[in-house]
Amino acid sequence: MPLLSWLAGTTDERPDAVRVDDRSLSWVELRRAAAAVADDLRGAGRVAVPATTSLETVVGVVGGLLAGAAVVPVPPDAGPVERDHILRDSGAEVLLTSPDAPPVDGAATPPVVPVDVRRLSDTRHPEPNPAATALILYTSGTTGAPKGAVLSRRAVAACLDGLADAWAWTPDDLLAHGLPLFHVHGLVLGVLGPLRIGSRLHHVGRPRPDRYAAAAGSLCFGVPTIWSRIAAQPTAARALRGARLLVSGSAALPEPVFTALAGLTGHRPVERYGMTETLITVSARADGPRRPGTVGVPLPGVRTRVVDEHGDPLPADGAAMGELQVRGDTLFDGYLHRPDADAASRTPDGWFRTGDVATVAPDGWHRIVGRAATDLIKSGGYRIGAGEVEDALLAHPGVREAAVVGTPHPDLGQQVTAYVVGDGLGEAELIDFVARQLSAHKRPRQVRLVDSLPRNAMGKVQKSRLARE
Ligand code: ATP
Ligand code: MG
Repeated sequence: MPLLSWLAGTTDERPDAVRVDDRSLSWVELRRAAAAVADDLRGAGRVAVPATTSLETVVGVVGGLLAGAAVVPVPPDAGPVERDHILRDSGAEVLLTSPDAPPVDGAATPPVVPVDVRRLSDTRHPEPNPAATALILYTSGTTGAPKGAVLSRRAVAACLDGLADAWAWTPDDLLAHGLPLFHVHGLVLGVLGPLRIGSRLHHVGRPRPDRYAAAAGSLCFGVPTIWSRIAAQPTAARALRGARLLVSGSAALPEPVFTALAGLTGHRPVERYGMTETLITVSARADGPRRPGTVGVPLPGVRTRVVDEHGDPLPADGAAMGELQVRGDTLFDGYLHRPDADAASRTPDGWFRTGDVATVAPDGWHRIVGRAATDLIKSGGYRIGAGEVEDALLAHPGVREAAVVGTPHPDLGQQVTAYVVGDGLGEAELIDFVARQLSAHKRPRQVRLVDSLPRNAMGKVQKSRLARE
């Protein structure tokens, strides 16, 4: 089924179908506003959209897709250098503007087209080829400069159909979230998901626990930092009892947060795993179990394997740790202008190398240990997953945030070093606290108490910045 066919065919006039903050449109109004943008874009192959949290962003993205263009969301808080890089690298021919979009006067700024949510059109735009590019999305920049990933309309549609199946996501759902609109999570799942499935959307604006509570979504999406804040506010968390499914992704959901959330809301959260390059590939299911610390099973149409350093497949025994590789209908077409990264990301036999380390249990359940580059600590012949040590630290009532990295050590190669945010904590006390939970070689040799952890827009800890300090 073509990517936007549900929206193209609907006659639903409900006034609050797509709501961002306190403004909303019906489905039909959204289609007609987007069709007016598509009229203005005629001929443009690549369209940049400043992805503010606004209805204009939704209208602009849908307008670009209706016109058959590749849409390039630009993070609204991108500095001038990052913004110019995205505009130049993507080859955007047009930049949409809206009243709340940041000023557009950089060296790389292409011609500007305004988005007006009140201008409506009834033009029918022909459906592009499914192989055409839907989106050029930039990776989160957790490990280095963001890379442009080219995603086809077919890949986006396949991902959303897989999630509709896994999460029993239907037109009866109301999706609530407060995610940024320039990555897979907020834009593909959080905007195009409802548009394809026909469920209502309430973007709550700023991702505050009270706003999640007030939105009363049946389906709620969040990143672990949001879920951790919600779990710390019992009144907001209890308001989510009426939801159907709470979904976490973009980074590992710490087990203590999973447990607290389940206790307060009555819902064991569904965790899912994915990347800009592969879209979502693995998830717990609405009709199945949810296990803390694990991300579920492959979505329909996705195959996975875990390999050792020589590329040889490891057994699915729940213990063997290796690089997770994936293939299937949701994979991207390649990076823009990065032949080096492209070559490094695929095996000769066509698997995508995620760069993440995982284990797979005999029943197909995946556990993400972390990123090979920063989360797999090699210390004195042991391989230690940073997440396990982070969870052990987070179990301490005084610890609010924890990030564990490997730092150079003369004998061990690497030592376990923990960065911790919290109140009234002592280094020796925390080392001891972990030692009482985990094997001796996993306890931190060094604990650094810090005011905050460096995080990007998705709330992911930028560990390469920690390790450099
Ligand atoms: P960059 O590639 O620019 O360094 P990034 O990898 O953070 O940034 P994304 O594509 O947004 O950019 O994120 C994908 C990564 O997020 C995955 O490779 C994985 O490390 C992490 N991730 C996503 N979901 C989960 C999850 N449920 N549990 C653990 N890690 C996750
Ligand atoms: Mg990445």
